[in-house]
Amino acid sequence: MAEDEPPRASLKPLVFRVDETTPEVVQSVLLERGWSKFDQHERNVEDWNLYWRTSSFRMAEHTNVKPWQCLNHHPGTTRLTRKDLLAKHLQHMGRLYGTPLYAFLPATFVMPSDYSKFVAEYFKEKQALDAKLSYWICKPAELSRGRGIIIFSDIKNLIFADTCIIQKYICNPLLVGRYKCDLRVYVCVTGFKPLTIYIYQEGLVRFATEKFDLGDLENSYAHLTNSSINRSGASYEKIKEVVGSGCKWTLSRFFSYLRSWDVDDLLLWQKINRVVILTVLAIAPSVPFAANCFELFGFDILIDDNLKPWLLEVNYSPGLSLDCSADVSVKRRLIHDTIELIHLHSLRNERKESCGATDGSPGVSLAGKDRGQGSDLPYESFSQLRSRRAFSKDETPVKKVVTTCPENRHNCQPREALSRQKEVHPSAREPPKAKPKARARHPALNTLIPFVSLIQPHGREKGLSPHIQPDNSWVPGPQAGNFVLIFPFNEATFGASRNGLNVRRIIQELQKLMHKQCSQVAEKKIKRK
Ligand code: ADP
Repeated sequence: MAEDEPPRASLKPLVFRVDETTPEVVQSVLLERGWSKFDQHERNVEDWNLYWRTSSFRMAEHTNVKPWQCLNHHPGTTRLTRKDLLAKHLQHMGRLYGTPLYAFLPATFVMPSDYSKFVAEYFKEKQALDAKLSYWICKPAELSRGRGIIIFSDIKNLIFADTCIIQKYICNPLLVGRYKCDLRVYVCVTGFKPLTIYIYQEGLVRFATEKFDLGDLENSYAHLTNSSINRSGASYEKIKEVVGSGCKWTLSRFFSYLRSWDVDDLLLWQKINRVVILTVLAIAPSVPFAANCFELFGFDILIDDNLKPWLLEVNYSPGLSLDCSADVSVKRRLIHDTIELIHLHSLRNERKESCGATDGSPGVSLAGKDRGQGSDLPYESFSQLRSRRAFSKDETPVKKVVTTCPENRHNCQPREALSRQKEVHPSAREPPKAKPKARARHPALNTLIPFVSLIQPHGREKGLSPHIQPDNSWVPGPQAGNFVLIFPFNEATFGASRNGLNVRRIIQELQKLMHKQCSQVAEKKIKRK
């Protein structure tokens, strides 16, 4: 043990708080990592570090959050996760920045307000298609798990009561075997101000369990890929062509299947990354600032037979139940990596705070500011990690995480789990030394910035670079476990997301990137010929 390493006996665990809606896997992973469960009879009411629950927090809960605490939802993100609000935000962005950029959302009408627009579009299309049928899907705005959905081709079959959306039904999905599927892509937004988005490089592919058939629109087992529906179908256990039994694959299995068909999976992944960034960007300016929160979203993406990704919806508190082996292998690790990610994020914030933030963002951290409130609170934990030389000089925190907990991370004692108790009474702690002199806001990042994600193959190389610059300005870490930073993705977007969000500038950068990627694809094709 290093000289300055405290003895284990004097360490105390971090504390997580749950309610009856908190997924079981979250609790078990946190316990596995050495955290303690909050018990209101035994502890002070503020004596916890992480509150993870399925429903949102009230604004008062956000404003009262203490510097050592963290919540698993941002305020106001139903703008993203309610189907009607998502459509409105994306359509608004399409109007502002060009419809083609936002053409990843199938044409959508919010009912009842867009009813006449829908009817006009329906008849226009009917005429254009002549005798061919057009297909639509009607989804209740606030329901999930495929409940209340109808698919129709004839407007006579449209029935709706509450607010719902009518959407163009993607009738040429990419089929595996002859089964429809969609992707559940996990995204963690560690901050809206400044905007910081990570994508998870593993995920799930959910299959319909009966063969896709446009002649039978009422068959949910053929048209809806929700596992809550397909699990109860007669064909769930059956060994299905290519898909096998059950109704889920891991994303990595899906991508390797695509590679076996010579599909450019990197290009597809880049497109998905763009869909995620553009979607989050649509709501980012309107999300109220709240300290110490993060959020894990589930993006449902359908790929069509031209390999175009379509965004179907964004899920609030994506399902974390472990119903099959794919769930177990993806979701347990997902939660481990989420905890790693927020831990690293908190370390960075702390560092930023003690050095004086140079990116214009409020420096909040789990370990934070409020150090005079009594030594029993668990807030020392994250800061302690830094002060007791958690990382050797030439080892970045990210690198350390990746190297200390590789594959079998579930057996290792995660570093954030333990903290030294009462080592220094908080009130006796010296304030940070004088703030460093004002420095250039955006240093020459060039080689240092770890903006690798948009050019990084899915689940292959793992780029690691320092995330705290020599001048102490802050750059989000590139990776935590399977999470990879996708926004900001270069120096320009880093600059455009600090001191306010310059959406126009960010869109320009995305467009530049798209053009670059398109020309790379064209070059590749020419070389192949
Ligand atoms: P829910 O929140 O009820 O799960 P979704 O929007 O995710 O609603 O839709 C459920 C399922 O319906 C999707 O997983 C997908 O299989 C299918 N689906 C939804 N929208 C479309 C669409 N526009 N085109 C084709 N299939 C769709």
